[in-house]
Formats: sequence, structure tokens, C-alpha cells
Amino acid sequence: MVKAVYPGSFDPPTFGHLNIIERARTIFSEIHVVVAVNSEKKYLFSEEERVELLRDMVRPWDNVFVHSWNSLIVEYARRIEARVLIRGVRNLADFSYEFDLAMMNRGLNREIDTVFLSTAPEYFVLRSSAIKELAALGGDVSTMVPSSVAAALGRKFPRVGA
Ligand code: ADP
Repeated sequence: MVKAVYPGSFDPPTFGHLNIIERARTIFSEIHVVVAVNSEKKYLFSEEERVELLRDMVRPWDNVFVHSWNSLIVEYARRIEARVLIRGVRNLADFSYEFDLAMMNRGLNREIDTVFLSTAPEYFVLRSSAIKELAALGGDVSTMVPSSVAAALGRKFPRVGA
């Protein structure tokens, strides 16, 4: 019975994130998706919006929970007695970044391990930042994010003259 935490910005959540959650929930007993709130970062979606969008996406799964947290992720994991942090990896650049992060987190708490799940091939190009840019230009994001997220992006970027 190993609990896992899946932290991220999820600004906004995508089918790539959802795929990682869907696979992780069959490996671990509980998945706690944690929306990072970092006062240094600028987000398009508020903490409440990101939590709400994710809760809607994971509603069918009874072992997946969504929360937000504004401090160290290993501290959150320790509090709920989760032993694993999950991170998704799309390519070598992600791996290099994620590896450093995992080393840092391990330095902070040696009882918590980071488990990397590689992206599903159909989602390896999906990136929240690129999706926001595409949506801002009026591009179609319907194959990249669930319809609730596409609608929320549409509200952030109303088409001029549309
Ligand atoms: P962060 O700001 O913490 O990197 P993100 O929301 O961008 O947060 O991503 C959260 C996690 O999900 C990261 O480990 C990231 O590599 C992973 N991830 C993001 N998009 C995908 C994808 N398309 N496929 C697999 N993993 C992904």
C-alpha cells in the first residue's frame, strides 16, 4: 500500500498529466495530485481554478485526490505519509531537470523516492506553456486538453472579433 504524490504546476492540466495519473493510480494505492503554489511564479490559472479543473478530470477515480500546497513538496509527502513522488518525463531535457530536482528532494528527505514515468508517445509534445501560447493565438487545443480545460482557456483568451 504505497501512497504517491504527483506535484506540478498544472497551468493548465493536459492529457499528458492525465495519462501519468491514470497509469500511476494502477501502480500505487493512492495518488495525491498536488498543485504547486509558488509566489515567485506567474500562473495563468489561479490555485482554485487549477484544483477545480484537475478534480473534474480525476472524478471517475476513487484513489486520486487533488490538493494545493505552497511549500516544500517533500514536507507535504511526509505529512500524508507518502513514500513516492511521481514525475513525468518527456525527453532528455526533462530528465536532466527532473534528475536534479529528485537529487535535491532526496537531500531533503531520504525516505522519499522519486519515480519517473515516461510519457505516452502520443503525448510527448504536450506542454502547458505551449498550449497556453497556442490558445492565446486562437489555435485548436481540443486534442491536447480535456474539454473543460479547453473551455477555461477559451474564457482566458476570448477571440478578438469572434
Ligand atoms: P512543473 O512546473 O512542476 O514542471 P508541470 O505541470 O509542467 O509542472 O508538470 C508536472 C509534471 O508532469 C512534470 O514532472 C512534467 O515533466 C510532467 N509532464 C508534463 N507534461 C507531460 C506530458 N505531456 N507527458 C508526461 N509528463 C508530463
